[in-house]
Amino acid sequence: MSDTIFGKIIRGEIPAERVYEDDHCIVINDISPQAPIHRLVIPKQSIAKLCDANEDHRALLGHLMWVAAKVANDAGIGDACRFVINNGEGGGQTVFHLHVHVLGGIEMSEQTL
Ligand code: AMP
Repeated sequence: MSDTIFGKIIRGEIPAERVYEDDHCIVINDISPQAPIHRLVIPKQSIAKLCDANEDHRALLGHLMWVAAKVANDAGIGDACRFVINNGEGGGQTVFHLHVHVLGGIEMSEQTL
């Protein structure tokens, strides 16, 4: 498990409301939302960034995509949303525990994130 803020949230060391949880991931609201709906899908297994994933992670990566779509549908933004994975410092990643941003509730074509 990573020693990042997300590792601490998953271990319960830092409180965060879990919008969704299953055996493989949690979903929380982003603390600094870039859109009216901004959720983070975070695997319980720590992978620092997407490009560190290996063949053993294929099922988990598929699961994260499925949960991201479910979260968007449940929030009513299934027809107008954006899924973002920042990868590496140069890719804008600030927390090195893989996560999928789910953004919506605003005209996404006007957003740059
Ligand atoms: P990234 O820049 O792709 O690594 O995204 C990290 C995201 O985590 C940012 O959008 C932050 O606002 C968010 N974040 C950081 N700390 C927390 C926290 N304690 N609870 C919820 N979201 C957080």
